[in-house]
Amino acid sequence: MLRRTKIIATLGPATDNSRALDRLIEAGVDVVRLNFSHEGGDIQRERAETVRNRARAHGRQVGVLVDLQGPKIRIERFREGRVLLQEGGRFSLDASCATGEGDDAQVGITYKALPSDVNRGDTLLLDDGRVVLWVEDVIGPRIECRVVVGGDLSDCKGINRQGGGLSATALTDKDRLDIRSAAEMAADYVAISFPRSAADVEEARAILRDAGGNGGIIAKIERAEALDSVEEILEASDAVMIARGDLGVELGDASLPPIQKRLIHLARERNRVVITATQMMESMIENQIPTRAEVFDVANAVLDGTDAVMLSAETAVGKYPDKAVAAMDRICREAEKQHQARTSSHRIGTDFQSINEAIAMATMYTANHLHVTAIAALTESGDTPLWMSRISSGIPIYALTRHVSTRRKVTLFRGVYPVSFALSTDDILVANKEILDELLRRGTVRDGDLVLITKGDQKGIKGGTNLMKILQVGDPSKVPPDTH
Ligand code: PGA
Ligand code: MN
Repeated sequence: MLRRTKIIATLGPATDNSRALDRLIEAGVDVVRLNFSHEGGDIQRERAETVRNRARAHGRQVGVLVDLQGPKIRIERFREGRVLLQEGGRFSLDASCATGEGDDAQVGITYKALPSDVNRGDTLLLDDGRVVLWVEDVIGPRIECRVVVGGDLSDCKGINRQGGGLSATALTDKDRLDIRSAAEMAADYVAISFPRSAADVEEARAILRDAGGNGGIIAKIERAEALDSVEEILEASDAVMIARGDLGVELGDASLPPIQKRLIHLARERNRVVITATQMMESMIENQIPTRAEVFDVANAVLDGTDAVMLSAETAVGKYPDKAVAAMDRICREAEKQHQARTSSHRIGTDFQSINEAIAMATMYTANHLHVTAIAALTESGDTPLWMSRISSGIPIYALTRHVSTRRKVTLFRGVYPVSFALSTDDILVANKEILDELLRRGTVRDGDLVLITKGDQKGIKGGTNLMKILQVGDPSKVPPDTH
């Protein structure tokens, strides 16, 4: 059985040799993430190139996802690199304190407007919530705090405000440059960090298109405000990432599980792709096997209906990158056997908006009820397979397309597999045979199997899918027999 849920692995020093990368590809990675928070354009461009070369050598398609740094607010550097904060003590975040001048009384901040965003009574969370400060007073550039939870605090750690509401705009100057790099490397997806609204997403898309990039835009849902306008953000994006790291810091960890379920549901309903991210296999940074809790986390995300599960430090700097992918792979496959992952009453009571969608829904309804072996969607843009993949099913959806950009885009869609394909003819019977032969060659169907095909009457028209048909492998000229 093919795995339907897609695996995203972040590249980093741990995967920077071709053997490690090969192992990652062999373990089944579908999309690689280039994290621009940590390394810049040149090294990432090289990674994108290497991964595409290695994927080609394996006869695979691997998508490339550029993840922008965004306006993550951080403390500046300390004189000694780190300090130990005592609970109950005082500590100030000071916009006028130079970098490298921090000590156990104060430290600088990267976002100079932070003092005008916070007030007495606010709680600030540093280093993903490991250190907690309570704001006592704001005097000019100085935010004077009481240490609620102390501990070790080192250079450049992130700052979040509990409840959200910091004013930093989503796209920084660095992000704008990095979007241009993403366009140059023909990234298949660009993820926007900390968007507050649909406008942030649209702006990023405009810059990307302007620079000649045609990748999909992913909105990372990681601040409280994004949840207030999540419908508009979904509308403006191709995909959303449930960025559980920052989101959990702003909202409190306990609110994450219901938010994850809601976002997955909303995304699928709106025909958007959804990624579940952060700490899924955290213990595998150091260990060869996941904890039981991590096994359940991945399986539950699959049952919630996520398109993809993501690895961050586990693959970028972990000790066992390919083992983390392999663990996710086996957990996803097992979870996908569950009845709830294979059947659907999605959209049963709704009207359809487009012909593409109607064909896709009819196909999935038929596929799930007639028990065909495979679906072959002849597609230009990947739209019809996207619609199809919003419906839970155990039947593989092959996206047959001549466009490499479409093949790479569908690497993120649950249950969709890219196939390089172009019909050589308009003759219907010959075309049927060409499609079935392609599936036979891949070993995905056998004589006698039923296959559902969708295509447009006219070749090369985006959004032109207007027919669905059922063929039986072996004799494509014969009308399939009644199977019951
Ligand atoms: P990050 O985003 O890894 O870029 O911080 C994901 C998250 O916040 O969960
Ligand atoms: Mn984040």
